[in-house]
Amino acid sequence: MTKPRHSILGSLLIVMSAAVAIGFITGQVAWCLAIAAIAWSLYQIRQFDRLIQWLQGENDSEPPESFGHWGDLFDELSRQQKRQRSREDYLRNIISRFQQSSAALHDAVVIIDRDNNLEWWNRAADRLIGLRAASDRGKPVMNLLRDPRFIRYFKKGSYAEPLQLPSPVNSDIQLQYLITEFGEGDRLLVARDITRLTKLEQTRQDFVANASHELRTPLTVIRGYLETYLEQDLPSPLTRGLQQMQQQSRRMENLVSDLLLLSRLEASQQISDEHPIQIHSMLQHIYEDAVELGREKGHQFQLEMDDGYDLLGQEIELHSAFSNLVFNAVRYTPADGEIRIRWWVDKEGGHFSVQDNGIGIDSIHIPRLTERFYRVDESRSSSSGGTGLGLAIVKHVLARHGAHLTIKSKSGQGSTFACHFPHEMVTAARLARLEDDDDDFDDDFSDDQQDSVA
Ligand code: ADP
Repeated sequence: MTKPRHSILGSLLIVMSAAVAIGFITGQVAWCLAIAAIAWSLYQIRQFDRLIQWLQGENDSEPPESFGHWGDLFDELSRQQKRQRSREDYLRNIISRFQQSSAALHDAVVIIDRDNNLEWWNRAADRLIGLRAASDRGKPVMNLLRDPRFIRYFKKGSYAEPLQLPSPVNSDIQLQYLITEFGEGDRLLVARDITRLTKLEQTRQDFVANASHELRTPLTVIRGYLETYLEQDLPSPLTRGLQQMQQQSRRMENLVSDLLLLSRLEASQQISDEHPIQIHSMLQHIYEDAVELGREKGHQFQLEMDDGYDLLGQEIELHSAFSNLVFNAVRYTPADGEIRIRWWVDKEGGHFSVQDNGIGIDSIHIPRLTERFYRVDESRSSSSGGTGLGLAIVKHVLARHGAHLTIKSKSGQGSTFACHFPHEMVTAARLARLEDDDDDFDDDFSDDQQDSVA
């Protein structure tokens, strides 16, 4: 604010001094003073009225003309009004540019408040997820995006990985949802149209699946011939060569079947049908296979399982994931090692872990271990008979079950690979089993009844 050039007291003194001077000339000092005081007051009231009228009137009209301290006041108010107007214009401009740019975005952007209600979204959100500006504002996001997979992802609260789902308005459009937290519990949801990328990925997967499938038949033929030749009495250099060929073709067969499994797993992000799995008997079988595999090395095994907890999922896939982890422990642990297999349930969910005191892994390799064909030590992995796809399979199986893998390892000090399943998968398995038991009971009961009727 600029300093006022005139003061009220100053103008009053000038008017009163003039009144006194005229009073002396006319000999009517008291009258002149009284008239001057009344005139001065009326002038102040008039200026005050003009100020009120101006403030109440059109905001962008020029302030009334005045002089003295009223002139100062009008000038200052006018300056502040202009400053305010230019600030408003600037903000309006920013908002309109933000609206224009967000409307031009191809990705849907949605702001969700801390109570999970929709606060704002751009035009692409109408098109891609079907949010309607007129009626959906303030509604809970989970009432509008009802896919159980989205609800599970949204409720999970950790959004490191994006979620891929078909659009709720057009199932031909594939969307990738990504949530970022900001402010105090608010979230920014971005949904990207990845239909083209998904199609390319699908083509790649189909190619791998077809190529692997096509490789199976020639491999079976080669192995068949090799087996026949090896049954014959051949010179030893030839036998050695044939044995090596047989070993390599077996490896190739494993590779082809792992590739096929991986491409099947990649085909969808979620398991389509889930059943309660008897974890106890599954782990008992894997344990027995591992003991057999590690017999030559003389490993010591421990199997610890919490009683009475099963898991909901796809048995073949989980068997493959768990056995991959256990067999890796056998392969990458030198003779007389210790391997501990555990299944336990706590308030966070169900957990399966395999701990060994084998060769371990340097920490720089750990983030990349689940990549296809990533190997810490190429020569050692190949000689161990691995395909380089085991941990990639584990990762995909777990993702399809809403679970995740953790790896703790130190070079030379052994490793612990653990799979963590959401609590719902354990409780749902228990409920499903109770229902099955009830159904069995009902069936038995009705059979009994029929028997007795018969
Ligand atoms: P592979 O078929 O080569 O075993 P995986 O995907 O199963 O492929 O494992 C990737 C790499 O991770 C392996 O090559 C190995 O170097 C390392 N690895 C896996 N499990 C263990 C383990 N228990 N101890 C040490 N290294 C391991």
